[in-house]
Amino acid sequence: MALYGISGSHTTEACPLNNDTSAKMVLHAEGMNIEQIAQKYKINKILGQYHSALEHTFLWLVEAEDPHLIQQFCIEGGIASFNSVKIIPMITFQQVIETVKKVNPQ
Ligand SMILES: [Zn+2]
Repeated sequence: MALYGISGSHTTEACPLNNDTSAKMVLHAEGMNIEQIAQKYKINKILGQYHSALEHTFLWLVEAEDPHLIQQFCIEGGIASFNSVKIIPMITFQQVIETVKKVNPQ
């Protein structure tokens, strides 16, 4: 299992604050169990879901097994229908320290 960021952005025009289609999709998601749906794509845990409303960007942090399945989750879940999305391999700061110790021992 690995840590991934799902980073997205949309235009002001596509924003759920301004666009009826996007708003319907976001409000529809409110009634769904996203954690349960994510399990189908081997996203085992959603650690955080953070949004910047006026920058129209978001960052979700997930523990998952396969970035291609995260991609499917974003497509089939509708996230990718009004956001451009990046799926980013992430590590913790502690893992950065351990990697630096290996690569550049002092
Ligand atoms: Zn927005």
